[in-house]
Amino acid sequence: MSGGADTRAGGTRSEGAQGAGPQGGGARSGSAAPPLLEVRDLRKHFPVRGGILNRTVAWVKAVDDVDLHVRPGEVLGIVGESGCGKSTTARLLMHLIRADAGRVTFDGALVQADDAAGLREVRRQMQMVFQDSYSSLNPRLPIEETIMFGPKVHGVSAGAARERARELFTLVGLDPAQFIRRYPHELSGGQRQRVNIARALALEPRLLILDEAVSALDKSVEAQVLNLLLALRRELGLTYVFISHDLNVVQYMSDRVLVMYLGKVVEIGPTADIYERMQHPYTEALLSAMPSMDPDRRTERPPLTGDPPNPINPPPGCRFHTRCRFADDVCRRAEPRLAPVQGAGGGTGGDGRGGRDGGNDRNGGNGRNDTGGSHLVACHMRAVGSGHGLAPG
Ligand code: ADP
Repeated sequence: MSGGADTRAGGTRSEGAQGAGPQGGGARSGSAAPPLLEVRDLRKHFPVRGGILNRTVAWVKAVDDVDLHVRPGEVLGIVGESGCGKSTTARLLMHLIRADAGRVTFDGALVQADDAAGLREVRRQMQMVFQDSYSSLNPRLPIEETIMFGPKVHGVSAGAARERARELFTLVGLDPAQFIRRYPHELSGGQRQRVNIARALALEPRLLILDEAVSALDKSVEAQVLNLLLALRRELGLTYVFISHDLNVVQYMSDRVLVMYLGKVVEIGPTADIYERMQHPYTEALLSAMPSMDPDRRTERPPLTGDPPNPINPPPGCRFHTRCRFADDVCRRAEPRLAPVQGAGGGTGGDGRGGRDGGNDRNGGNGRNDTGGSHLVACHMRAVGSGHGLAPG
């Protein structure tokens, strides 16, 4: 089926996702606003069982002592190669799986895994949209019923839930008269993802976790859904955690970006800092592999080499050292800590490497939220006195 309704995107722009940023993004907060969501030391290790006794023979360190925060009205992008722990982080934030360790605070209150009522309320305020647009929709129900389900479970009358469903259809750019009685298989991928967004909004959440939510869509439909998300953020004052392996899309959507490698945060900062003044060799390698329309940018730096990441028993010290061309002894011995970038605002350090695009800040002046995040990196090469041969000082 064609994406008929996809042309009625909530956003006003229809250009591709690359190279621009959210126009007039709904900055409802400054750097002083306290986080809506805050996470400390979040950890999830999955056992790998083997042998005839089915004993634990290794651990997948999917998420390993992750700290992050998201301020109200902000879009925090999370990037990293497949298997680095993005989805596990999302599921932990939603409390869909139990963390081994860590503290999650939502709107200033600690979320307790054993407080059922508290969890229910947090889950209402935080909703998730997945990549697979079929997964959250019941194939045997008209989509209107799916959207009504959540409000009805929360005590809303059938009439009011139906009214709300129709409002939500309009909000996500689907004509209620045309769509409410349709079944999921009668919709295009873009339309189905609009329904999923409507379903996620049905309980009036404050934060959406978008886990590869546009990754399965064609590029033109993807751009429309991204613009819809930005328009909804503006209109409804939403906050997003936006997870994607697509660096162009993350750049387009995010106010700040968190880079993960083998379960660890290796770099986090405002989008312009990450894309133009990246500090971690992994971020640099990841961005080098990013498709660019600009021929000058395509061959500046070598893409990632070495074995693909394996979070089962990851290497000691810096987890990236096995693939890092700057690895020194200290990288093999000691784990680097996330620390503020020295003299932030400069180039990429003392090795003479410049920023990604030689000073053409693609994020400048595009209305991106200034959420006041600092730029942090976990790399011995960037830490004063770390013992790395290229470290400053
Ligand atoms: P990403 O979203 O970045 O691709 P995931 O969070 O899905 O990564 O996975 C991180 C690692 O955790 C992967 O190695 C994956 O195989 C592993 N993993 C995820 N879920 C489970 C599970 N339920 N049991 C065992 N391993 C898992």
